[in-house]
Amino acid sequence: MESRYLLNHIGGQWRPPESGQTRPNINPGDLADRVGDFAESGGADVDLAVEAAAAAFPAWKALGPIKRAEYLRTVERLIEERAEDFARAITREQGKLLKEARGEVRRALAILDFTAGEARRLNGETTPAEEPRTFSYTFRSPLGVVGLITPWNFPLAIPMWKVAPALLSGCTAVFKPSPFTPLSGALLTEAFADAGLPTGVLNLVQGDVAAGQALVADERVTGISFTGSLPVGLAIHTAGAPRLLRTQLELGGKNAVLVLADADLDKAVQATVFGAFGQSGQRCSATSRVVVDVRVKEEFLARLVERVAALKVGIGADAGADIGPVVSEARMKACLDAIRTAQEGGAKVAVGGGRHTEGVPDGCYVQPTVLCDVPWDSEIAQEEIFGPVLSVIDCDGFDDAMRISNSVRYGMSGTIFTSDMSRAFEALERFEAGMLHVNRPGVGAYAHLPHMGSKMSQFGPPECSPQVWDFYTEWKSACITY
Ligand code: NAD
Repeated sequence: MESRYLLNHIGGQWRPPESGQTRPNINPGDLADRVGDFAESGGADVDLAVEAAAAAFPAWKALGPIKRAEYLRTVERLIEERAEDFARAITREQGKLLKEARGEVRRALAILDFTAGEARRLNGETTPAEEPRTFSYTFRSPLGVVGLITPWNFPLAIPMWKVAPALLSGCTAVFKPSPFTPLSGALLTEAFADAGLPTGVLNLVQGDVAAGQALVADERVTGISFTGSLPVGLAIHTAGAPRLLRTQLELGGKNAVLVLADADLDKAVQATVFGAFGQSGQRCSATSRVVVDVRVKEEFLARLVERVAALKVGIGADAGADIGPVVSEARMKACLDAIRTAQEGGAKVAVGGGRHTEGVPDGCYVQPTVLCDVPWDSEIAQEEIFGPVLSVIDCDGFDDAMRISNSVRYGMSGTIFTSDMSRAFEALERFEAGMLHVNRPGVGAYAHLPHMGSKMSQFGPPECSPQVWDFYTEWKSACITY
């Protein structure tokens, strides 16, 4: 790995943090593999980065979206060329399977493709005027300097769905990746630098809470786009409220798959396994609860357990593995603690339930776990786990399934399996969630569909889709008398 990747990238320069402090980045699939010691930044680094972004803003704004899109097209070509380097870096520092990492790279490319194409559609409206000889219209204006704070679960795709629209809209940005995935952040930043992006338009500040807090507190920053946990999202929103900071918060989930008595059980099992255990369950839209009608519960559970017991746990680079490690020792401990608490609350382990150690390096491996007889209102059924732990909850008919599905404070995704299409349409209306699926896995999204949640899963305009411009731009109206 190139040593410059350990640094920040501010005003077009790779530079160490002002404090000289670093933080180790460890491969969660093999704790003996130290990826590197990355910059641990603080307020002084954020100050420099915001200064660079503010200086770059007027010229970048003046360039216009069509010229700005050319940079995104160049980045798209560069990432296509470097796709395997990106995928291997993601797998090494985040742990996900190589095939999942390759899928993430393809997703980042789709986001660039979609966003660059939007350059020719950043339209306003012409409106009638009240006076004669007057022309009135609306147009979008970039917000200014934005802070982009991202998690570790999609270390390329999530930053890309913030950086690409931020830059296309004419904003300049300070990007702070998760401290668990700094290498992916550095590679992304390098691709933009190699595309010839003007100095200061995109700045990279590595680090954790101190850097994030400094970015939120900086009064030159006019918007924060954040993806991460609910408590941190609330802290950011609260810290920015006194100055009416615009925030876009993409938060946690506690997503349910509903399996009605008339469902195709094989399809439902397959989709549940993919939604719950893909990416080791570390997706905001991951299937965390499966709510099954008591009439088919025994049959569903038997088929589910058989499938989950057959999943091969392995390091991300193992082509034969079905599920990789979780991201860190802390996450592994949180999963194991949640399983213990669930058992104390009456849930039973149907399969898994512990740490996985066989045939893998010393790493953060949790056995894919299915808990059954889970009370719908217990902690495990209400709180996000973010790991390969699935709760099976009994229900009695459609209304009961909807009630349980909507009983949580989150509202990211909602999924139903039924062969009754009028039930399915009714469920789509009743789900208190933003991303809905019928007879298919509850995960997966397109670059052109809004990525959105209800209730405590999201605040502000959604990401992806043309709706994203409502975060990165502000509307203006103009009247001209001639
Ligand atoms: P996290 O909230 O711990 O951290 C997210 C980011 O915020 C990191 O970059 C972190 O350094 C930074 N941060 C931490 N404290 C901060 C503070 N006080 N001020 C400013 N920045 C701060 O989340 P995580 O563990 O990295 O990611 C997992 C969480 O992300 C889960 O809750 C998951 O559901 C959520 N997530 C949501 C989506 C979505 O689209 N809704 C997508 C992926 C992940």
